[in-house]
Amino acid sequence: MTNRLLIVDDEQDIRDIFSEVGKQNGFTVDTASSITEFKKSYFQFKPDIMILDLYLVEGDGIEIMRILSENYYQGALILISGYDEKVLSSAQFLGSEHGLKVIASLQKPVKLQQLTELLKQNKIDNLYINREYIEFALNNEKFVLHYQPKISLKTGTVTGVEALIRLVDAQGKVIFPLQFLPLIEETGLIIEVTDWVINRAILDLADFFSHGYEITMSINLSLKNLTDIHLPDKIEEKVLKNNLQQKNVIFEITETAAMSQPKILIDILTRLRIKGFGLSIDDFGTGYSSLVELYRMPFSELKIDKSFVISLTRDHESNVIAKAIIELAHHLEMITVAEGVEDEAAMEILKKYNCDVIQGYLISKPLPKEQLLEWLKVYKPIKATIT
Ligand code: C2E
Ligand code: CA
Ligand code: CA
Repeated sequence: MTNRLLIVDDEQDIRDIFSEVGKQNGFTVDTASSITEFKKSYFQFKPDIMILDLYLVEGDGIEIMRILSENYYQGALILISGYDEKVLSSAQFLGSEHGLKVIASLQKPVKLQQLTELLKQNKIDNLYINREYIEFALNNEKFVLHYQPKISLKTGTVTGVEALIRLVDAQGKVIFPLQFLPLIEETGLIIEVTDWVINRAILDLADFFSHGYEITMSINLSLKNLTDIHLPDKIEEKVLKNNLQQKNVIFEITETAAMSQPKILIDILTRLRIKGFGLSIDDFGTGYSSLVELYRMPFSELKIDKSFVISLTRDHESNVIAKAIIELAHHLEMITVAEGVEDEAAMEILKKYNCDVIQGYLISKPLPKEQLLEWLKVYKPIKATIT
């Protein structure tokens, strides 16, 4: 695992020098010179620590702090500015009001020694995210699930949620799956972790039902989960025990995993489907499935990878691909879901292409259960397509 440092500054020299300091101190570094570049990096690179210049030619640091706050940025923030002390301290105050962890505000020219110290102090000690910590996390409720709503473009209403796992580290910081899933897979603990995810998600789904929200629960499975021949029966038992039905739960596996095609995988997937569970092919468009393979696999839903969705508004090729995927999926009688819908414009394009369901920051980011319940209470259906 790495410590990720994002530097947002419009001066090339500063970006270069700070990058160098970051790298020397063991950080993986990404840089952005504008708000657009920042957004792109923030969601893909997922920084643990950020250096933010308050002044940018395009946009400004205050706007970026607002975005960080809206996205519950948990990492550390170092503010820098060429303006006087007052601007810095009011920005620092604003940051705290936003719930951000502003660890320092520095005036330009920044002393490199000072920056080095700050980075060293705030480097996450990854040594404890090891097998022992994962086991500890399992026994001590250090894993949490956040739920992201899926919205029907046909009716405007919530069809379901996707469960996305997070890990709380020893300092109480929320860690995102891309940073710990590889380790969990390597150590084989993915079996225990997935068991935990399935249990938690089914209990929470039962809770959503008891509040009157009869929605679906999507659960991500990794390839390593699909070697246990008894999995479909175990899951079915849990679902029925909680007075839910099989059709209320959807399992997602990535296109790449699905196409690796060991026989046992097809066996398990087919039996899940026969039992009435939903099956979704995730990150579609990143793997290399052929039409025939797609036809053979028992999927009920297809999720267009967010890389195509995010670029819908600026890239012609993504449009062609998304449109073709949606048509293909419909011919194979699958429901189409677009993930990574971040703006209205992308949503309108997807409506035009007859996509069924959307998911993304435009609607809501993934939320803890209690917050999702609050969100569901106030959600006003979006304008649906007129078909
Ligand atoms: P995924 O299944 O493709 O999940 C969607 C990811 O996109 C999530 O990242 C979600 O927070 C993010 N996302 C949602 N809306 C937007 C948007 O509008 N724009 C952008 N740029 N991103 C958006 P997250 O939560 O960091 O999860 C990353 C991956 O980790 C997931 O990708 C999934 O493959 C894996 N994962 C998460 N939870 C589990 C789990 O319980 N089990 C397993 N095996 N894998 C999981
Ligand atoms: Ca997924
Ligand atoms: Ca996906």
